[in-house]
Amino acid sequence: MDRPLAKSRLFRYMMRMPDTATNLMPIPGHFDPVPVPREFKPRADGRIDLLGLTKMDLRMALETSQLEPKQAKLRAKQVWHWIYNRGVTDFSLMTDISKTMQPWLEQRFVISRPEVVEAQVSTDGTRKWLLRSDLDSNGGTQDYEMVFIPDADRGTLCVSSQVGCTLNCRFCHTGTMRLVRNLTPGEIVGQVMLARDALGEWPSQPEGRMLTNIVMMGMGEPLYNFDNVRDALKIVMDGDGLGLSRRRITLSTSGVVPMMARAGEEISVNLAVSLHAVTKEVRDEIVPINRKYGIEELLQACADYPGANNARRITFEYVMLRDKNDSDDEAHELVRLIKDYQLPAKVNLIPFNPWPGAPYECSTPERIKSFSNIIFDAGISAPIRTPRGRDIDAACGQLKTASEKQSRAELDRQAEEKQAALG
Ligand code: SF4
Repeated sequence: MDRPLAKSRLFRYMMRMPDTATNLMPIPGHFDPVPVPREFKPRADGRIDLLGLTKMDLRMALETSQLEPKQAKLRAKQVWHWIYNRGVTDFSLMTDISKTMQPWLEQRFVISRPEVVEAQVSTDGTRKWLLRSDLDSNGGTQDYEMVFIPDADRGTLCVSSQVGCTLNCRFCHTGTMRLVRNLTPGEIVGQVMLARDALGEWPSQPEGRMLTNIVMMGMGEPLYNFDNVRDALKIVMDGDGLGLSRRRITLSTSGVVPMMARAGEEISVNLAVSLHAVTKEVRDEIVPINRKYGIEELLQACADYPGANNARRITFEYVMLRDKNDSDDEAHELVRLIKDYQLPAKVNLIPFNPWPGAPYECSTPERIKSFSNIIFDAGISAPIRTPRGRDIDAACGQLKTASEKQSRAELDRQAEEKQAALG
């Protein structure tokens, strides 16, 4: 298995030396497709986590451990299949890998899952998980959430891309938390893997799944963590593994205009935009990124989004806030904007799910209906989303806050006990 590193293909890859392989040649353009090797950072136990590595990086991780390139290529293909098609986390279950190779892999690598801190099931079937990262270099962990929403004809997993968020949308509970860090590709794809585990959906097959759709709509702004989101979604879409069609994946942005075209070109998933207001004044208040990228600029980026057409319409998310953004005039203005920019669009009207301390209330059902009717009458679909999982605080960010409160209470209790013991 071992061979001199200096002569290996890996060495050329790491050093980016010219190679006969044309895929290592830079191609002009605003995105340079030269594969950039990741640093294979080992975990605290010294092993490398294979979850979330691209196909190329998985192979390179094996080569880094001194496996012959041919061997590495073959093993990477097998391991990829076991990880993403069969959901296996234990190398000893990989039956087409020899009994001597299995412990070799086990000593050097691991296939992780996020730690589940809390799992809740709503009376309507919505499931929510609070997940915890591995120890970081400072010895800390971070918590993030994912939610599974089953419907009659589909099951949608709402995936987080960051711990916390920088954007402070005023109606959003996650926006009240500071950004802690970006999630890694492994942590993003790990949410899908964990949901598949929980739903008992291995081996991966295209038919009859409960988990049919993914929305990048959990904690965080995915376009502020684009490289990791892209790598994770490419793994999710890979036909040799999870094999979810790009048509079943939606990326939701609050309007990071400069990144939208790149997202369309590189992953070409469906686009959802958190619009929530049609005037500068109101959108500046509730989606503050609007002060940087205004409504016109945002809608032009939507018009230019690669791959959007009537079969793959852009979804505009619109949270209904009482006396803030819910008048008939605003509904008419929304229609005008969509028509002016000739957008293949649908509008999702979301009744606001208030959290403790929220600065807004939900619009009345009559107001929401009237708003919806105006848009429908103009020939644009504008369904009212049924609130889901309200009994388990399924609004983004709420489970994490509840858990933090609980752990703070636990710390206070421990401090009191300590004090009492000393006193
Ligand atoms: S809506 Fe999205 S972008 Fe805005 S604060 Fe919440 S998580 Fe961040």
